[in-house]
Amino acid sequence: MEKYLIPMVPGPVSVPREILNAGALDFGSADLEPEYVSLYLETERLLQEIMRTRSRVVIQTGEGMLGLWTAMKSTLRAGDRVLALSTGLFGEGFADMARSIGCETRLEAFGDDETLRDFERVERAVREFRPKMITMVQNETPSGTMNPVREVGEIKERLGVPLLCVDVVSGVGGTDVRVDEWKVDLALGGSQKCLSAPAAMSFLSVSEAAWEAVREVGYEGYEALAPFRTAAETGYFPYTPYWQGTAQLKRACELVVEEGVENCVARHERMARYCRERVREMDLELFPAEGATPSPTVTAVKVPAYTTWERLDRDLRTQGMAVGGNYGRLAGRVFRLGHMGSQANMNLLKEAMDILETVVHDI
Ligand code: PLP
Repeated sequence: MEKYLIPMVPGPVSVPREILNAGALDFGSADLEPEYVSLYLETERLLQEIMRTRSRVVIQTGEGMLGLWTAMKSTLRAGDRVLALSTGLFGEGFADMARSIGCETRLEAFGDDETLRDFERVERAVREFRPKMITMVQNETPSGTMNPVREVGEIKERLGVPLLCVDVVSGVGGTDVRVDEWKVDLALGGSQKCLSAPAAMSFLSVSEAAWEAVREVGYEGYEALAPFRTAAETGYFPYTPYWQGTAQLKRACELVVEEGVENCVARHERMARYCRERVREMDLELFPAEGATPSPTVTAVKVPAYTTWERLDRDLRTQGMAVGGNYGRLAGRVFRLGHMGSQANMNLLKEAMDILETVVHDI
């Protein structure tokens, strides 16, 4: 692989040396040593601080999707009703996952370039469908948009929906995530986005209501949550934990907490504002619609009509820069600049935007 001097991919982001080095342990039989349990609990405490929750935060070996499957399979069974609120590809993905479990699923889909604003429509859907779980994505990485969660949490509480499951994979550590205030039962995160650790760990907060659902459903399997309820206390994990990956995640969380979660969020907002300004100055068009909330961690831009994604990508790489393409119906139409975690750095971003400007100008 070539070494890109300017990494602007929206995850996995470039991993700072001190996070990489935190995993430089040549021995670690995590299921035998009490030190691992301390490491796990310290990492959990840091994640609780970053996610602003008092609930247990379960840490698993695996990347972001693992957390999503863990939450769904452990708390749902065939026939349960799931309302998937969607403003993009990952929002829609929740509906597919629920269907695959055999749930009765209603997809309430808004535009890929929109963010949730029509809460009357959300409320109507909840009243009509009476779901056991509402799912949503806080930060839709492919669309470069950020959804409000608080309002959905209020609807959930008011209308007595048992569970709210929120994907915060590309928001946690770079945006305001308030699990308890927002009444989120399952908040799902990953190590490789704003936390800038390798793509090796996932984590999820689990409310008491969610633990109750875990108990009722009784799911057994690799993504089962149940054994994690007591793992740290008993020292009995369902499979050998990844000591090095947990150590890297812990260091990554420490860096966020040392900076201050609020400062970190403000840094991401500054970067995103700068990025959007530069994009507009280049006469490129942002993907999020007028009135939608753009993401503080990733900026989605329309591929201009006078070129193609392939050409843009090739020319940027020739200049030493890698940005994100897209998936599904957004593939070829929308590209993304990931200014999250270690890449939410003004010097890096200025350089990146200068390169983008030159490349766009020369096409
Ligand atoms: N959810 C969102 C919003 C994402 O952006 C991603 C990855 O891009 C995932 C989930 C899945 O994470 P992973 O690729 O680490 O499995």
